[in-house]
Amino acid sequence: MKVPATQRPKSAEFNPSDPVDPLDQLIVALDLPSERAALALVERLEGRCRWFKVGLELYLAAGPSVIEHLRTQGYRVFLDLKLHDIPNTVAGAVRSLSSSGASLLTVHATGGAAMLQAAVEAAACAPEPLRLLAVTVLTSMDATQLAGTGVGSSPAEQVLRLARLAAAAGLRGMVCSAEELACLRQELGAEPLLVVPGIRPAGAAHGDQRRVATPAAARKAGASMLVVGRPITQAASPELVVDAILAELARTDT
Ligand code: C5P
Repeated sequence: MKVPATQRPKSAEFNPSDPVDPLDQLIVALDLPSERAALALVERLEGRCRWFKVGLELYLAAGPSVIEHLRTQGYRVFLDLKLHDIPNTVAGAVRSLSSSGASLLTVHATGGAAMLQAAVEAAACAPEPLRLLAVTVLTSMDATQLAGTGVGSSPAEQVLRLARLAAAAGLRGMVCSAEELACLRQELGAEPLLVVPGIRPAGAAHGDQRRVATPAAARKAGASMLVVGRPITQAASPELVVDAILAELARTDT
């Protein structure tokens, strides 16, 4: 499934809640230690992907230039910095990132209503459309780990609580695991963009992820977009893994 560079998006704007094209359903997490390593993988996947995720490891190593490079090549960028601070500081960070070229940016829902509202207000003033996603409960956490942070609710209950908080604050997207999708769709409807990490093709190592699902299972349960990192970045043939995931998504939607 090759995508000529001329067919890649010019603008950062991305609005559909339920992207129909598998290329818009897969986000490859560039969790790599340098811009050079990241762009080498991007080159290897040339023509196979439309979305890349820049997270803390790569952003702190490479800075904003990695986003510029990806945008120049026509890719869409999910900037996963998981902002979490007082409202004034998060609003300032969103303003600082508002012309970065990213289409999606994460904030932690546990920052609370005032922080989420401040982030939404700052994003509304962005020169290019920037959609905020609320991170609910990390997919690496199970009930025991969550309890260790003082939260007595199950991951599913806590995800729902945080997703409601985020929706009330005006966010139109959340990050959750596949296990909470059905409940969130029932509660929030079809509108929010539900982005799901913890994706593991059948047989792939789970690593530190706890609430996991295959690409097909996540999509069937209501995921808008899937985030996949190590199953691709650590594969001997990342191209083959991407092709297999895209084929699985195409079969799931037909
Ligand atoms: O390598 P793996 O597929 O587990 O990578 C998942 C990616 O999704 C990582 O970059 C991680 O930071 C991110 N993520 C996550 N759980 C969340 C939000 C983001 O795993 N709740």
